[in-house]
Amino acid sequence: MTNIIDAKVFPSGTGCVECLESGGWWLHLRRCTECGHIGCCDDSLSKHATAHANSSGHPVIRSFEPGEDWFWNYRTNDYMDGPLLAPPLHHPLEQPVPGPAGSVPENWQDVLMDS
Ligand SMILES: [Zn+2]
Ligand SMILES: [Zn+2]
Repeated sequence: MTNIIDAKVFPSGTGCVECLESGGWWLHLRRCTECGHIGCCDDSLSKHATAHANSSGHPVIRSFEPGEDWFWNYRTNDYMDGPLLAPPLHHPLEQPVPGPAGSVPENWQDVLMDS
């Protein structure tokens, strides 16, 4: 395991990079442990965390949700242990789930269920 986890890299921001660019929204957030990219989870519409792993070859993510500290390795398809990463370890507590505030449709549960 060479550089797939760089504990010194800060997260790219407080929300999914691609969703924020496109005005989209997410359910949960994941953090790339190699470059700090924040992306949305596989239960979100766009699955940007997995898309980032596929396009960049960065195989490990850590949850960016408050109270969650698990790492996931796409190469082994399994959870793994990891070091304490550079802060913050999760999105701001005042940021709603799903987020971000103002972009989530009122019927978001239906939207996700139909996707
Ligand atoms: Zn996204
Ligand atoms: Zn990355």
